[in-house]
Amino acid sequence: MLGLMRSAILVEPGRIELREVPAPQAPPGGIVVRVRAALTDGTDLKAYRRGHPQMPMPTPFGHEFSGDVAAAGAGVSRFNVGDAVMCVHSAPCGACYWCGHGQEELCESVMSTKILGAYAEYIEVPAHIVEQNCYRKPPGLSYVAAAFLEPLSCVVHSIEYAGFAKGSTVAVMGDGGFGILHAALLQDYGFRAVLFGRREERLALARSLGVGEVVDARTQDPAAAIRSLTQGRGADGLIECTGRQDVWEQAPQLVRRGGVVSFFGGLPAEARVAFSAARLHYDEVRLVSPFHFTPRAVRRAYELLAQHRFDPLPLVTQTVPLAQVAAVFERLDGGEGVKFAIEP
Ligand SMILES: [Zn+2]
Repeated sequence: MLGLMRSAILVEPGRIELREVPAPQAPPGGIVVRVRAALTDGTDLKAYRRGHPQMPMPTPFGHEFSGDVAAAGAGVSRFNVGDAVMCVHSAPCGACYWCGHGQEELCESVMSTKILGAYAEYIEVPAHIVEQNCYRKPPGLSYVAAAFLEPLSCVVHSIEYAGFAKGSTVAVMGDGGFGILHAALLQDYGFRAVLFGRREERLALARSLGVGEVVDARTQDPAAAIRSLTQGRGADGLIECTGRQDVWEQAPQLVRRGGVVSFFGGLPAEARVAFSAARLHYDEVRLVSPFHFTPRAVRRAYELLAQHRFDPLPLVTQTVPLAQVAAVFERLDGGEGVKFAIEP
């Protein structure tokens, strides 16, 4: 039995408190993970700033993590106490209509059965996640790198879902953590990625991750820049990672005839967007909008990390102890840093 633990609670937007709460117990088929690294993420920042429909407050906080198995419930055979593990915070049910039609990212219970509370000493991981979306962390991979399993799964799913043709030139709009991850992984997959951003240090960071072409959107018009890089055609593909309505609405103009626009960065639920119907119809511009990820994408992300095909560590601005979670979100809210690693 584990006793009390410290857990960061998002009490209301803008207010995080470190509280002493009972540590979780391992449920049948599930495990309790002693968190060794947890990452901040854009979704967390959104919830911190303005609340989140999926996170009624007060709520445990944080969802990207890795750690060690501290307890295993009855019937767990894949993991033993002491194993280092990397997990994502959700898994599909395997039984609903969507799971039966190969669209597990849309599983009707994948959101309601997800777990939160990675900014804590321990987190409970239930059976359905242990069975599908937990992996043993290789000894040569750091806990911080392993905690990238969840964001990388989102990006793997996003790129595969868009279905870009081999050799495509893909514009990535936005130099946040997800924009940079997309551009770096596209490059790794053999596509030509062009990253558009507005902050010099982030564009430099993308370069250090192997992104060959970056464009400062403050000084260069994206439409003109894309035309000049594609002999006037427009990009073969585009991934929207800013979550800004004006960028969503401009996106179909930036791809070539027959190009693909993928909207990754979500807009507020009440947003309405407008596109030229002629552009979609006569120019066959295809619009897609990937959501979440599948267990297959998680496995692929695991392989990329475990085989050191992809090193995400340059994205980590700083590593801090659990007591600094509130301070870290103040800094993120002020525009500082990309991702912080919390070590509880
Ligand atoms: Zn399902």
